[in-house]
Amino acid sequence: MQILNYTDAHHEYRKRLKNFMATEVTPYVDEWEKDRIVPKSIWRRMGEEGFLCPWVPTEYGGMGGDFLHSVIVSEELARTNHTGLSAPLHSDVVVPYIASFANEEQKQKYLPGCVSGDIVTAVAMTEPDAGSDLASLTTTAEEDGDELVLNGSKTFISNGINSDLVIVAAKDPAVDNPYQAVSLYLVEDGTPGFKRGRHLDKMGFWSQDTAELFFTNCRIPKTNLMGEKGQGFYMLMQKLQQERLVTAIGGQAAAELILEWTTDYCRHHTDASGKPIAKNQAVQFAIVEMTTEVKLGRTFLDKLITEHMAGENVVIETSMAKYWCTDLSKRLSQKCLDLHADFGLTEDCPVARGFRDVRVMPIFAGTNEIMKQIAGKFMGF
Ligand SMILES: Cc1cc2nc3c(=O)[nH]c(=O)nc-3n(C[C@H](O)[C@H](O)[C@H](O)COP(=O)(O)OP(=O)(O)OC[C@H]3O[C@@H](n4cnc5c(N)ncnc54)[C@H](O)[C@@H]3O)c2cc1C
Repeated sequence: MQILNYTDAHHEYRKRLKNFMATEVTPYVDEWEKDRIVPKSIWRRMGEEGFLCPWVPTEYGGMGGDFLHSVIVSEELARTNHTGLSAPLHSDVVVPYIASFANEEQKQKYLPGCVSGDIVTAVAMTEPDAGSDLASLTTTAEEDGDELVLNGSKTFISNGINSDLVIVAAKDPAVDNPYQAVSLYLVEDGTPGFKRGRHLDKMGFWSQDTAELFFTNCRIPKTNLMGEKGQGFYMLMQKLQQERLVTAIGGQAAAELILEWTTDYCRHHTDASGKPIAKNQAVQFAIVEMTTEVKLGRTFLDKLITEHMAGENVVIETSMAKYWCTDLSKRLSQKCLDLHADFGLTEDCPVARGFRDVRVMPIFAGTNEIMKQIAGKFMGF
């Protein structure tokens, strides 16, 4: 029984996307992993085919789809076993800020490009000394006539190199209360004073261009403030729920894929006596236990997606899903690597990349410790 209400149109969309991934993404993944970045052209191809921001209304160039279209893109991208083409981050984390909080002029200016792939987006919250505790961010935005002057630095920003538009969280140094000091600003590529720093070399997420960003007397028009001044925290809190859900979907999809490869491997790879290693009880037990967990995760997640789409308050469950699904992928990938033994350690085995990529997931989009803290808080402890 399916929990999610996929229509024929959704199934058709997935079929088209699978075909696109098979011809225009998967054959290039190894090259992108080596390059540590994906080319801008693949973003535009995704846009041309309607695979970016599918939920954006037609008046802004979108196809007026729903969150299930986004779920399909997240799942099918996870099945390409790479993370560089981070469409879920762009479509379902960053662009929703513009759709919800930008004024009409800003929406007209940016949304069509976000849909077409001409504008790749990033969101810059984290700083060298402000990760989990965003209240301690130090990047400032000060008014000067018709302009705002940004100063500070951000780090670990996904799409940091490829981005054409960055949503930057910065504070007004004149406001003492950090929760009322932060606002969100739209900073375009090429703005004087906005520079990219190091393209970070990470243990996983190789094809994802994660970078430092620097703002040095970076002047933007006052009209690039997004939403109300001082409401940055409120906007972040409102949108972080979907970011956590999207990360949970990525973790779950990765766990399913890695388990699929491993089950198949154990059925066909033989031991010293010539029988498939899956004939050993210890191997069977491991696969049965992992399959049970994956099925539990899928049921929990699909119900949560339905509730999220219905606009229910699922802040506790979303925090639980982010930590549980990403922890699941971490645990499971470790066991699956063991079951592949020496082959699992080679780049010929897809589990090797899956293993290092899922290792990153418990850390971003709010660490899993922070997820438990949020759930605990909303449970009234
Ligand atoms: C690949 C990647 C991509 C990223 N992309 C982006 C992006 O696009 N935009 C962006 O803004 N950021 C991005 N980040 C940054 C990410 O959001 C931060 O890494 C994350 O918020 C944690 O912050 P931190 O690394 O500074 O850890 P810290 O906050 O320094 O935490 C260190 C450890 O202490 C624990 N800890 C901290 N506070 C508490 C607490 N109150 N209770 C319990 N434990 C606590 C944490 O769980 C962690 O284990 C990315 C990170 C990575 C790795």
